[in-house]
Amino acid sequence: MWRNLSLTMFLAAMLAAALPAPAAETRVRATAVRVGSYKNAARFVVELSSSVRFKVFTLADPYRVIIDLPRLDWRTRSGRPKRRSGLISAFRYGVFTKGSNRIVIDLRRPAAIVNAFVLPPRGRIRTYRLVVDLKPTKRAAFLKNARPRQKGRQRRETRRFPRKPRRKNALPVIVLDPGHGGIDPGTTGRRGTREKDAMLRFARALRRQLLATGRYRVVMTRNADVFVRLRRRIQIARRAGGDLFISLHADAIGLKGFRGASVYTLSERASDKEAAALARKENKADIIAGIDLGGESGEVRNILIDLARRETMNRSVRFARLLVVSMRRRVRMVGRSHRFAGFAVLKAPDIPSVLVELGYLSNRADESLLRSARHHAKVARAMRRAIDRFISRRARNSRS
Ligand SMILES: [Zn+2]
Repeated sequence: MWRNLSLTMFLAAMLAAALPAPAAETRVRATAVRVGSYKNAARFVVELSSSVRFKVFTLADPYRVIIDLPRLDWRTRSGRPKRRSGLISAFRYGVFTKGSNRIVIDLRRPAAIVNAFVLPPRGRIRTYRLVVDLKPTKRAAFLKNARPRQKGRQRRETRRFPRKPRRKNALPVIVLDPGHGGIDPGTTGRRGTREKDAMLRFARALRRQLLATGRYRVVMTRNADVFVRLRRRIQIARRAGGDLFISLHADAIGLKGFRGASVYTLSERASDKEAAALARKENKADIIAGIDLGGESGEVRNILIDLARRETMNRSVRFARLLVVSMRRRVRMVGRSHRFAGFAVLKAPDIPSVLVELGYLSNRADESLLRSARHHAKVARAMRRAIDRFISRRARNSRS
């Protein structure tokens, strides 16, 4: 993916000077981010301990500026530009691939990159400064300069990672998918708990329990704080020959009193407005990380009309029901605990897939539970029992 980016980048800026590249162990520190955002111009500045190589390009729908950098040591927090009407509406940064960081700048209007460079320390300013200057432009001009959409690419990727055929007597493969990661933190609780961290810890707890039975192989779509795009998560599951795919999330909403877990399966039509809104939110992960989504919808439609898909949907629903029954005994669930919506991550055509929202980080009690290792173990036990039932039933059916 990294290499693809470098081929298609719109503007490459390489820095400079006779400084040798820093060793891998001593990462360049980013000490501050400053944004000057006005109606007719914007300047985005990152203060750095050393010079870096970087790439800048733009993406459309929504309008974004992407800055790709080597892995930095961030000593600063993501912020929000103060001016409500300026070109830049928000920005975020984080790990994109293992060795790279990405900054995603959200734009209110189409903008052109006027300048992108690194300034060495000068006078009283001790830091290097990565500077990106923007000015407003028309949509047509923005689209002309934005990174080109790559239509057939996704299809090639899917072909490159076909589902591994099952070997006889091989252990069933359970794929655990901790939501978000890296540049995409997911939701954040009132005490600052980040969905991406809580879900990774929970996935590890569930993996421990599953492995302890000796009856499963467990594959994780990520086992570190890195960004993994939604489509890639499906590819990992298919390449591993997954028998079951469980995506793990925690929501946050405006209603502080609302709490409890819920289980979702894929459907063309959402079961209610809240489910549809949640799916929209979870599906945004790729946009948040600054990935071009050109050409996705066509393939999604193809998958939805696939007949194999229908059978998989039925099996997903069967597992979701087992999961709700098993979890309800131990864990607080929301009313109508099983719902349907168009989650992109559940679209593997041949692997039963569910998405579990383990609770609400916007609720104090739920947030405490989602931080607790004891609670993780309790929920993991309940989920393991449902997995046991689902897999043993399947084994019985395939024998008869
Ligand atoms: Zn999520």
